[in-house]
Amino acid sequence: MRDALFRAVDRRRNAVAELTADLIRFPTVNPPGEDYGPCAEFVGNYLAARGYQVHYVRAEGTPGDTDRHPRINVIARLEGKRPGQTVHFNSHIDVVEAGKGWTLDPFGGDIRDGRVYGRGACDMKGGLAASMIAAEAFVETFPDFPGAIEISGTVDEESGGFGGVAYLARQGYFSRPRVDHVIIPEPLNKDRICLGHRGVWWAEIETKGEIAHGSMPFLGDCAVRHMGAVLEAFERDLFPALDRKQTSMPVVPEGARRSTMNINSIHGGQTDDYRPGLPSPNVPDWCRITIDRRFLLEEDITEVKGEVTSILERLRRDRPKFDYTVRDVMEVLPNMTERDAPVVTAVAEGIRAIFDREPDYVISPGTYDQKHVARIGHLFNCIAYGPGILDLAHRPDEWVGIDDMVESAKVMALGLDILLQGGLAK
Ligand SMILES: [Zn+2]
Repeated sequence: MRDALFRAVDRRRNAVAELTADLIRFPTVNPPGEDYGPCAEFVGNYLAARGYQVHYVRAEGTPGDTDRHPRINVIARLEGKRPGQTVHFNSHIDVVEAGKGWTLDPFGGDIRDGRVYGRGACDMKGGLAASMIAAEAFVETFPDFPGAIEISGTVDEESGGFGGVAYLARQGYFSRPRVDHVIIPEPLNKDRICLGHRGVWWAEIETKGEIAHGSMPFLGDCAVRHMGAVLEAFERDLFPALDRKQTSMPVVPEGARRSTMNINSIHGGQTDDYRPGLPSPNVPDWCRITIDRRFLLEEDITEVKGEVTSILERLRRDRPKFDYTVRDVMEVLPNMTERDAPVVTAVAEGIRAIFDREPDYVISPGTYDQKHVARIGHLFNCIAYGPGILDLAHRPDEWVGIDDMVESAKVMALGLDILLQGGLAK
């Protein structure tokens, strides 16, 4: 039966390439959230034609949702012949902007040399197509399967997922008893299982000053110099400390197996809007940085914030007139599904069957929609697994290999067999 299942996937080799190309031709660029409705409808129509019940959910009032750019998600469900568990494949349909450097039309969906090219080919319309084909092959081989299969195309993953998986999770779409197993076909390479991700704390730190004439800075108080003191303290005390924190999480790439912090931006004093040539000679009374702190399962978010605020408090004590504020922008806790969770062992078995090797278990350095499934849906049986090479995501001439999609669709189909019916395909 395994051979029959795999042949049913092989017969859909052209179909998976065409489907990916069709999806790429919807330029679902986020921001602003272009073409979400038509793309969701395309997925919905494809699945409705195969017997799925299809729902569209607009995430009213979430960031970016307007009548011009409605946040439209599609959820399709196919009931089996008997009661049982539900496997849900969740893909985001939004893509990042094409950017420069393309030699092909980023939204043309070119198929050549065994690859499908275009923005979103690998991240992650190829994964969505592979999951649709995998489910089709499974249902053809086992028409009497128990339980249910769900496939969703959700929006806004690239901007935090608030109008997508987070919104749906709040409505129970990613919780038991509706759903038992979630696979997110992000491009983590076809023989790797991604168990979760590091945590994030994004914050704005602002130093205060006092405005005065630039020729007499002693009459004011320079907020930029105060920020310089903050950055110096970070260089001396914080960055070396973060670098020493190692994790047992199998994060890839290896450099991300430590705590990290990026300083995303720095602004202060007069705005740049007057350039060129119209400077106003003032002592700046504000300076602001945005920090992006990525933390580990072994760290507590209260400690993570405390490391930063203790440095700021020390400056407040030691540095005359130093004052600051910290504003939280976003926080996401680290997340790691257990290796013996059913969805992990089922996909691992699929990888062994197709590639004749043990899967690699990895953790993503950045977050993806699994955070919402875990935190809002309280479902800790979720992984990312899909075709596509992670390094190609968000780059010019992005592509996904057709062989990779076919092979990962076989892994997904076998995963369905194991999760829904205990592995009839022996
Ligand atoms: Zn993605």
